[in-house]
Amino acid sequence: KLYNEVQDLKGNIRVYCRIRPFLPGQSEKHTTIQYIGDNGELVVINPSKQGKDSHRLFKFNKVFGPAATQEEVFRDTQPLIRSVLDGYNVCIFAYGQTGSGKTYTMTGPSVTSVEDWGVNYRALNDLFNISQSRKSSIAYEIGVQMVEIYNEQVRDLLSNDSSQKRLGIWNTSQPNGIAVPDAIMHPVKTTTDVLDLMSIGLMNRAVGATALNERSSRSHSVLTVHVRGMDLETNAVLRGCLHLVDLAGSERVERSESTGDRLREAQHINKSLSALGDVISALAQKSSHVPYRNSKLTQVLQGSLGSQAKALMFIQLNPDVESFSETISTLKFAERAS
Ligand code: ADP
Ligand code: MG
Repeated sequence: KLYNEVQDLKGNIRVYCRIRPFLPGQSEKHTTIQYIGDNGELVVINPSKQGKDSHRLFKFNKVFGPAATQEEVFRDTQPLIRSVLDGYNVCIFAYGQTGSGKTYTMTGPSVTSVEDWGVNYRALNDLFNISQSRKSSIAYEIGVQMVEIYNEQVRDLLSNDSSQKRLGIWNTSQPNGIAVPDAIMHPVKTTTDVLDLMSIGLMNRAVGATALNERSSRSHSVLTVHVRGMDLETNAVLRGCLHLVDLAGSERVERSESTGDRLREAQHINKSLSALGDVISALAQKSSHVPYRNSKLTQVLQGSLGSQAKALMFIQLNPDVESFSETISTLKFAERAS
């Protein structure tokens, strides 16, 4: 195996925390982030408390401050992604409140400038480059699927069929099974193929969304990359799968403030994120029972969230004081992974 350095990550969940910068117009004086250490430490201040009780230290595998570039973030993600070509199942997801930078990390603010590219494009680009460099010994085929999970229904984002049928999920307890076999799988060979597909996916995701009701913050989007490699000498076949997940916003919606559709959405998001938390926590504790069945999200990700797979969670934070309670709840979610 070429990427032994990531072997020890198997079964563990890495947590990277990323703090987005203040946006134009926000006052930098009002921050909850007091300190970012080199070794994954983070100190958060509670604006309504004084003295010793006002600070709390968290420690993760890595903390990226507001100045971190897309390239820096990717550099620490790359080994994990590359192990897909060795036949591992990998899951990378971004968790945080709406506006904290999940889409910025996973997709990027724009696709026109390569510097802006998020993890998704860089991952595929990297997989193409490495598979090319190995082509004298291994013939790789790469295919992608893109689905959205909204109100506990799985929808194909690459299908032009406007009937928007719900897709079934298969049990992928056997390694490398395909979790959503009825979602279109597009073979891809170049980054341009991927850019084209993702723009279709993002467009389909926006269907039905109004300005006030942005759909993307209330559904999970899952880009799945399937890799099949055949050893040209032995004809042995390996399969790997990479899930790249932009989760729905984790903010709590006040029960009193929402009714009807909005309340139903909030309940579905709540249910699936807490199911994800329960799975992560069971894995971290090496529990013999991992409760995948409790949400569509954990069922779709099952094959790449387990003792033989590798997972990485980006915890996204908004530095603003107004976000303090959401920041703490995001950090507590992440603590369940360790
Ligand atoms: P989310 O997907 O969590 O709702 P976004 O990714 O849409 O959040 O980010 C919210 C806003 O903050 C966007 O305008 C985005 O461009 C900006 N932003 C997020 N992260 C960064 C970053 N690391 N550097 C610069 N701007 C960022
Ligand atoms: Mg987003």
